[in-house]
Amino acid sequence: MRYPIGFTMAQMKHRNKMAKEGRKRYPTVIMLEPLYTCNLACVGCSVERHTGKLVDRMPVEKLFKAVDDCGAPIVNICGGEPTLYPELKELIEGLIARGKYILCCTNALKLDTKVFDVIAPSPNLFLMIHLDGMRETHDYVCQREGVFDKAVQMIKEAKRRGYTVMINTTVYKETAVTEVEEMCKMVDDLRADGILVSPGYEYESVDKNVFLTKEQTHEKFKLIRDFSPKYKVNATPFFLEFAAGMRELPCAPWSTVNYTPKGWKAPCYLIDGEGHFDNWEDFWNKTNWEYWESRLDRRCLNCKMHSGFEHSAVEEAMKTMKGKLQLAAWSISK
Ligand code: SF4
Repeated sequence: MRYPIGFTMAQMKHRNKMAKEGRKRYPTVIMLEPLYTCNLACVGCSVERHTGKLVDRMPVEKLFKAVDDCGAPIVNICGGEPTLYPELKELIEGLIARGKYILCCTNALKLDTKVFDVIAPSPNLFLMIHLDGMRETHDYVCQREGVFDKAVQMIKEAKRRGYTVMINTTVYKETAVTEVEEMCKMVDDLRADGILVSPGYEYESVDKNVFLTKEQTHEKFKLIRDFSPKYKVNATPFFLEFAAGMRELPCAPWSTVNYTPKGWKAPCYLIDGEGHFDNWEDFWNKTNWEYWESRLDRRCLNCKMHSGFEHSAVEEAMKTMKGKLQLAAWSISK
């Protein structure tokens, strides 16, 4: 299966519950950012996400409140580098006790000292390792030699210890599609549990022009879509068609909400078009969702991120029997 059965069931249960309640908009994932501190400064990362001070991190109680307030079944702990968050064990164990599925997005450099022998493997915990290419490319993106080798070593060790491990890859202008396929093969070789491939978002705060135009995204993702059935690529068929420019989708920024050291970021993880809100009710009720769904804002024009569109891709598939069958076949095909 593309995802463990429990993870898929939790999403289906949530979707059915929301449908019964008649809710058109609801979050399924919360991108939880406990800190804006990082041990790397990667070329495609928004500057604020790696320049924050550890002292400005979020207290764990506020993170739990954010998770409880939004009700999403999936918590994506990102930042910043989560393994630098001193209260990570307390946070993950508290989330597991709440029945949440946790994706811990990490560069893997500190897994050996901060996670192994500290936080036990669990069916609810996925280590999501950032790897933006093979050795030369990834070390360039991370602006440090040796990061790729250490990450691969950590993936092997994490698998040996029984963790669920996925790879998270961003495709930039210079990324060769052949290299993306090489990474997909590597996922199989390392016996990792999947690979999420996304086009990079063009952050205004990033100086270097490393990002794809819409046409370049379509070109690269047409090729990625072609070879994806052979590998454990964790993007749904309709999302890959969207990334390849073969179908249009509305954005669903409310499906993946973002809680940061500055509060709830509106409308999404990528842009603060409506600023930050201190409390959930204001964020949810005051954000102009209809406007952001339309993708008319200039900052949305090139965006093809999972966080905005994967929910819409699944919704679209669920509208027809053919789409449902295609989605079901994809879920069990690897
Ligand atoms: S299109 Fe992208 S940038 Fe715009 S609201 Fe959706 S996810 Fe955010």
